[in-house]
Amino acid sequence: MTAHQTEILPPRLGEPYLLTPGPLTTSFPVKEAMLKDWGSWDDDFRAMTRDMRTRLLALLGPGADDFDCVPMQGSGSFCVEAMLGSFIPKTGKALVLANGAYGQRSAKTMEYLGRGYIVLDKGDYLPPRGDEVARILADDAAITHVVAIHCETSSGILNPVEEISEVTYAAGRKLLVDSMSAFGAIPLEVAQVRYEAMVSSANKCIEGVPGFGFVIARKSELEAAKGNSHSLSLDVHAQWANMEKTGQWRFTPPTHVVAAFLEALRGHEAEGGVAGRGARYARNRDVMVDGMRDLGFETLLKDRWLSPIIVTFFCPASAAFEFGKFYELMKAKGFIIYPGKLTVVDSFRIGCIGQMDENVMRQVVEAAAAALSEMGVNDASPPQAALEERAKLAA
Ligand SMILES: *Cc1c(COP(=O)(O)O)cnc(C)c1O
Repeated sequence: MTAHQTEILPPRLGEPYLLTPGPLTTSFPVKEAMLKDWGSWDDDFRAMTRDMRTRLLALLGPGADDFDCVPMQGSGSFCVEAMLGSFIPKTGKALVLANGAYGQRSAKTMEYLGRGYIVLDKGDYLPPRGDEVARILADDAAITHVVAIHCETSSGILNPVEEISEVTYAAGRKLLVDSMSAFGAIPLEVAQVRYEAMVSSANKCIEGVPGFGFVIARKSELEAAKGNSHSLSLDVHAQWANMEKTGQWRFTPPTHVVAAFLEALRGHEAEGGVAGRGARYARNRDVMVDGMRDLGFETLLKDRWLSPIIVTFFCPASAAFEFGKFYELMKAKGFIIYPGKLTVVDSFRIGCIGQMDENVMRQVVEAAAAALSEMGVNDASPPQAALEERAKLAA
């Protein structure tokens, strides 16, 4: 574990902490980096783009030489759409592994693209497992690609991508990964997990501000992607080819966001890269989850599946508990939390990512305790139905 070399400072007076999975609380130097204008075609900005691509590729570990990094304007979903539309040929067929909103969004994107796909839908949070993926691939020879979500941010589950990758390649198919909320804090080294392409965005674990995402793909796939895309602006091959040739983005780049992101990458490196950042987030989660459990709250997921990114808690059964009220009380104490996304039982989420450390997480727990007592909730334990729901989750 790497010790912090960077100091975590609170947001400026009056600004709440964002306990959300992006936009998140950024450092002051990241915000400050945006106080300047850059010409998009100028050498200085081209050097920034080049530097950013190189630094991101370095996070892949040994074997990164076979990959390249293509930044794309827009939010993370634009990048997912760019990846699916550029790497899955018009004659291809995807198996989308869904266990939450982001898996569903990938499936919907395939629908819009008008390309072949089927969905393995595991519901709100059950993980897609290697053996079931292998069976589907064995039964359907038309499937060319598997699409997996690394951390499904809607429940916070860390999906078993290594296992999924193994069965995908054992069956001679290709893997595409949405690592939006995991990349930068959870290793996705190409020597450990085989895949053709992955996407993430500026405002998640690297702790930049929103405005663009990036596709990291095997160079051979980038070459082969020519002519696949349904969209001019979301064509990863065209963006890559242009960047290689001119050093520029094809259309207006989010210059200030890139400047902020470079500063965020420096902070990430100073903290010890993926290992250092992942360790801080894991510590944030542990301190926060232990404290919330002490108050009587229960997590949706068993420890094995809990990501260090965001955690889902069941709402207390107590008639005095009301999420809207809880949210406002937490906000008044300086913490923006996140509503839940489960369809079966009421829940809420607390993020562990952004410029926060375990001291902040202790304050979060104190704030939750105070909010409960202000609402008159003296027992935070969930309804029986929630525990029955959780019992479905494999050990
Ligand atoms: C944040 C996120 C996205 C992208 O969401 P945007 O709102 O478009 O930025 C996609 N997938 C996952 C898993 C995410 O966490």
